[in-house]
Amino acid sequence: MIFAKDSTATSWLKSANGSDFPIQNLPYGVFSSGGSSSRVGVAIGDQVVDLAALHDSGLFADSPVAGENVFARDALNDFMAMGVDAWRAVRRRLVALFADEDVIDASGVAIATDPKLRDDADLQSKALMSASGVTMHMPSKVGNFVDFYSSKEHATNIGSMFRDPSNPLLPNWVHIPIGYNGRSSSVIVSGTDIVRPCGQTKADDADMPSFGPCRLLDIELEMGFFTGTANDLGTPIPASNAPDHIFGMGLVNDWSARDIQKWEYVPLGPFLGKSFATSVSPWVIPLDALAPFRVPPPVQEPDVLPYLRVDGDWGLDIDLRVELKSTQMTEAMTICRTNFKYMYWTIVQQLVHQTCNGTNVEPGDLYGSGTVSGPTPDSYGSMIELCWKGTKPLKLPTGEERKFLADGDTVSLSGVCNAPNFKVGFGDVCGTILPARSG
Ligand code: CA
Repeated sequence: MIFAKDSTATSWLKSANGSDFPIQNLPYGVFSSGGSSSRVGVAIGDQVVDLAALHDSGLFADSPVAGENVFARDALNDFMAMGVDAWRAVRRRLVALFADEDVIDASGVAIATDPKLRDDADLQSKALMSASGVTMHMPSKVGNFVDFYSSKEHATNIGSMFRDPSNPLLPNWVHIPIGYNGRSSSVIVSGTDIVRPCGQTKADDADMPSFGPCRLLDIELEMGFFTGTANDLGTPIPASNAPDHIFGMGLVNDWSARDIQKWEYVPLGPFLGKSFATSVSPWVIPLDALAPFRVPPPVQEPDVLPYLRVDGDWGLDIDLRVELKSTQMTEAMTICRTNFKYMYWTIVQQLVHQTCNGTNVEPGDLYGSGTVSGPTPDSYGSMIELCWKGTKPLKLPTGEERKFLADGDTVSLSGVCNAPNFKVGFGDVCGTILPARSG
């Protein structure tokens, strides 16, 4: 179910209309409430829909998910593995159950409303709960976490600071969506505290390295996509059907220890400076919900190799924001506004490149975009760029300054797509820095 960009569709659930989670969004997550077991839900307005309860009540009969209750699970992996036809059938069903009148999709096909939930107060009391009263969990069991480096602005800024301002990009960058295999055990859901990592660092003027708490703790504003259907080991996913392997997207904060990173990353790349924590937002926005916001990506020059040529526009117009709040502040301060449409490499190209050597993706894998930086200094997606390696500290309203994160700081990333009559929100991903712990 893809809505037209000018959709005016609304729901009988009034809190949905005009919210970040309208009928055009319907993101998936995993939640628990009142000590119950975790299960799959969908956010709509200020409510969470218990899909396991809808399934138990027979509302997914005659659908690809009619068999075993794939929503009575503590992760989305099994539903993700069912493939794009099942995802689309469930989305159409939810639209029919929540729309207040028949809905026309972007290709002109009508979906008739089904009043079964609207007219059943008993079922509503079982299947709808206030979002403020539930606990959100990791949306999937992430077997594999990969992080790309796909913003040309970010790669240029980092290359300028650490290598050569006159030649900041390495020659391969415009040919390869650069990435690395990261660590999945420390991918955590929004709201989980971040313990300041310890590690080995070396000051430029020191003879020897030393061990201790990271002093240059940073954020990375990223987005990530979750994969659905797997491919067989040895069989690449071609560009032509790569979008069907992408389940949806969320926000990612890829916390980074710049001083540890700087000392360790040559010759083999990121390791402990990156692997201590990666936070994700709890709601996964279906790829079809993002379809109205597809835009042409930046022009790729030189032309990419044939296997990376993708039909259609896979840039995504998603407004992004970073907020910082110290323990002394009463309100958070916006420190960055940017947009996902600036990303040079698209999510489809990232997936195609990931599997071009025959690597197998699995349902529930997370693919981080890399830091999303825009063209202006207030649109950079990390502190090291916003404060330009500590030379331009941020001034907080309390008089405090920040070059990097201090203990007690809370950082929140949020994202939203704006259409004329509705918006598709991502919610947020937040985390608070706790002091370092020694062994
Ligand atoms: Ca990263």
